[in-house]
Amino acid sequence: MQAISDFDLDSLKGLLSQLGFKSSHARTILRTFYGENPPVFPPESLLGWRLREKLSGNIKLMQTTIAGQHRSADGTIKLLVGLLDGQAVESVLMPAFRPDRAAGCISSQVGCAMGCDFCASARGGLTRNLTAGEIVEQFLYLRNQAGLLGRRLASLVFMGMGEPLHNLANVLAAIERIAHPEMGNLGWRHITVSTVGIVPAIDTLAAAKIPVHLALSLHAPDDATRTRIVPMNRRWPVAEILGAARRYQSITGRIVNIEYCMLAGVNDSLDQANLLANLMRGFPAHVNLIPHNPIGLGISGVEYRRPDATRVEHFAAILRKADLVTHVRIARGDDVAAACGQLRETTTAAVA
Ligand code: SAH
Repeated sequence: MQAISDFDLDSLKGLLSQLGFKSSHARTILRTFYGENPPVFPPESLLGWRLREKLSGNIKLMQTTIAGQHRSADGTIKLLVGLLDGQAVESVLMPAFRPDRAAGCISSQVGCAMGCDFCASARGGLTRNLTAGEIVEQFLYLRNQAGLLGRRLASLVFMGMGEPLHNLANVLAAIERIAHPEMGNLGWRHITVSTVGIVPAIDTLAAAKIPVHLALSLHAPDDATRTRIVPMNRRWPVAEILGAARRYQSITGRIVNIEYCMLAGVNDSLDQANLLANLMRGFPAHVNLIPHNPIGLGISGVEYRRPDATRVEHFAAILRKADLVTHVRIARGDDVAAACGQLRETTTAAVA
């Protein structure tokens, strides 16, 4: 049986007509589902009992469950979202500095095929793509969790498990529902899609006319270093992904974020900082330096470490001197393995 998160306006209209009801009910049904927190389906008072009964027999409220929940000392909440086939993905809610807001981080795939050596999500390879509905339900859970904390989910990043641009069609369909004013109502501008750099998909996203934020996981200014830690660099090297990022910025008008996971002795030298500053000349992107969060051994057997704080500051200073807006990301939720790169594949059985 399908869940209501599987539908957009057109497909729900189609189903209603097929069942012999007015397709105009679709808007009410979706508005109520997304408008209530937690979501409601089918709407109690708005529809006749016959339609409600028919809907309940054909579509269910949710297709996923919250199979586990971890709360960090810093207020970050990590949810283990259980899928129908026994798989699970992780979603994270981070209370913002503003007391009334929170940011969410969601997954786009079970596992990941990209193989980045310093990221826990890569270790088991890719199991499967998430459906649009499974992605949407993570957003709904995080929005509800934020509400329970007296906060509003104000932004959402696709920086959980998986490579969103390797599951582009479902990610686009989910964004459509999450952003739509009559559905999730988050707005494009509050959504960030992070990618290892799949060039044709970046161009497709730019052409899709949904001006979400793009984050590019660069991690090294030179191909030799990047290929060592990000195998996809062999397919789309530094110059090509930066070219795509520039096109994205000029087509959408959105500032691109460059993500740079700092690994001691690998990509944190001051020479590499200068190289990065040169590479970015004339491209007013923002740089996020992410000190590596521990994950144990990478696929290659290497155990990465984060540089000490002084090195990170020196690195950042070189970029800032070259007029690049540079932030150092503070780890959130690392005590419950909810920080960047620590999300990994588990099954619901693992927490039972
Ligand atoms: N596949 C996408 C989205 C998921 S990763 C991408 O590559 O962008 C989200 C961010 O977490 C990326 O910038 C990634 O480089 C970073 N990251 C991965 N492993 C990390 C780790 N162990 N410590 C800190 N950041 C990490």
